[in-house]
Amino acid sequence: MMVSFRPCLLALLALAIVEAKHVDYSGHKVLSITPKSEADLEFLHKLRNDYSVDLWNEPRYSGVPVMTHLKPDLVNAVEQALTENKIDFDVAFHDLQTVIDSEKVMNAPSDASQADAFDFGKYNEYAKIEALIQSLAANNPSIAKLETVGKSYENRPIYNLRITSGKSDNKPAIMMECGVHAREWSSVATGAYLVNKLITQYGKDPQVTKLVDTYEFNVIVEANPDGYIYTWTTDRLWRKTRSRSSIDWLGVCRGADANRNFDIEHCGVGTSRKPCEEIYCGDRPFSENESRAIRDLMISLGSRIKAYFSIHAYSQLWMTPYGTSKKLPPNYTELSRVGQIGVAALAKKYGTQYSLGSIANIIYEAAGSSVDYAYVKQNIKIAYALELRDTGRHGFFLPQNQILPTCEETFDGLMAAVEALQ
Ligand SMILES: [Zn+2]
Repeated sequence: MMVSFRPCLLALLALAIVEAKHVDYSGHKVLSITPKSEADLEFLHKLRNDYSVDLWNEPRYSGVPVMTHLKPDLVNAVEQALTENKIDFDVAFHDLQTVIDSEKVMNAPSDASQADAFDFGKYNEYAKIEALIQSLAANNPSIAKLETVGKSYENRPIYNLRITSGKSDNKPAIMMECGVHAREWSSVATGAYLVNKLITQYGKDPQVTKLVDTYEFNVIVEANPDGYIYTWTTDRLWRKTRSRSSIDWLGVCRGADANRNFDIEHCGVGTSRKPCEEIYCGDRPFSENESRAIRDLMISLGSRIKAYFSIHAYSQLWMTPYGTSKKLPPNYTELSRVGQIGVAALAKKYGTQYSLGSIANIIYEAAGSSVDYAYVKQNIKIAYALELRDTGRHGFFLPQNQILPTCEETFDGLMAAVEALQ
């Protein structure tokens, strides 16, 4: 008996070792390719479809650079093809691992006394985020309440922070989720900044005070804790959850895209049924604990939700439904009015320019998203997905000096949009 088990155990052990190993991006290059014609766009689509190249942002219309992540064996061929086809490109990152390593140095605490402190000017590891939201709730019980709305695949709590003054039972609610896509660290940084400001500035900042008196804010700062931790420990570019799909019986490719997993045209346009793909929709709607947690909070708040925000990075976009079709939603005029107020307020401090439009028209068609689900299935008539900074120079590696400005301007935009609600 023992003998026959041994190879199996060894294989499991080997798998565990492979899983735990840091993904090394040495020699990987990221090009910023700027398509100027339909043919250029086609070239980018071909790179992705025929050569499995990871395009960090969707090729949309000409003139917007696409960060294109190339494995070492493809670099020369792609650069040559770009030159031959006269397609504009710059090198964003010569060596991706160097960028990852220097980011790690940047995020390290400046001295030992700061080891446990939350630094809003840096990216913070999961334990610090969890400690921050726990202490905000514990120290401010009159306006903040922490609740667990679900458990991640690896059994971590998915927290919602409820922020409001006085009794909240009948107050209109605002719901926000950050961090669904693990590698979009600035989304989580923004969520942490936002809850901290709403709670600590209540009674000091007139805008915050008025909004916290009027609304109940429900903020999921980290919707995908497993994925986020994995980006810190193992693979900086991980996007999905960390679940094991029932159709991938060897468990070779883990996780699903939680933002393609909602029950709205599930596995439709802009998704994939292949577990190894970044936009894998999961084997059924709400297969992922993480999307279920978001759904359950939406359902429990019900018709109290006046506005819904799904925070992502990057591309500087303020997007309305639908992702499933290029058709505009019935109240697009109102969505556009409120969105324009948000975009204008967001630009005020640092001049950051966002584009406003529906997901399918401005970026790409994508089924199964939280925003379409909120709008169509939960009847939340003001719902947006935001893509934060930048437009394709640093992408997921937004540098340290832009973290706090991104949080501040996004806060301004979101609060102006909430103030503009009718
Ligand atoms: Zn995202």
